[in-house]
Amino acid sequence: MKPIFSLLISILLITPLLATAGEHAKWSYQGAQGPSHWGDLSPEYTTCKQGKNQSPVDISNAVDAKLKGIKFDYAMLVPENIVNTGHSIQVNIRSGGAITIDDEKFILKQFHFHSPSENMIDHKSYPLEAHFVHANDKNELAVVSILYQPGAMDNLALVPLVNNMPMNVGDSNRLGAKDTELFERNKTVKNYFNFNGSLTTPPCTEGVRWFVMQSRPGLSKRQLLAFQRAMKHPNNRPVQPLNARMVTK
Ligand SMILES: [Zn+2]
Repeated sequence: MKPIFSLLISILLITPLLATAGEHAKWSYQGAQGPSHWGDLSPEYTTCKQGKNQSPVDISNAVDAKLKGIKFDYAMLVPENIVNTGHSIQVNIRSGGAITIDDEKFILKQFHFHSPSENMIDHKSYPLEAHFVHANDKNELAVVSILYQPGAMDNLALVPLVNNMPMNVGDSNRLGAKDTELFERNKTVKNYFNFNGSLTTPPCTEGVRWFVMQSRPGLSKRQLLAFQRAMKHPNNRPVQPLNARMVTK
């Protein structure tokens, strides 16, 4: 075959595997589109394999840095809905949530769940992790992570979410202010781990500030099963190398 034809055939064969204009390449948590292949699924996703500051991480040997408190202002939190995206269960926020770190304000956009946890602490995984995704006015991201541990009782803040759980991919249920009122925390939290990281899903964009809470609330087996049944499969990216990064606390 003439080289030009063989090149043409290669392009025709490869093209469907890459993202077409205006849409993002499909990815998943298992098989050929799973986490170890994300960096090869699309040119947009190369940071997933080439990035040096990727999330999640295994947090151990955190350095004591006397971090300033994170000021939570969730009193006026109004959620929009709870959505089954196929990758996660996500609560979209209409208005009212913010955190302040070093005098800089970040607005809560959404929070979502991973099971099992993505971040680990001292090589230990937890059954559920929530990511509260905030953005400042330059669109830089700050993610607050809460790791949940197994407990005997229902976690009261999670009860309205479990009661409104969208069970199938694409499902969404409306939420009102009452459904997230137990996430209200008008307080300053000082016990947390801090590191620079990335989105834990493609395109794995770096420059994300991570704040993993040291306090780990419990949730019941029944609640955990509700999240796992809705998500259908584990949705945790494996931990990534720390490389030159330091975790502070
Ligand atoms: Zn997440």
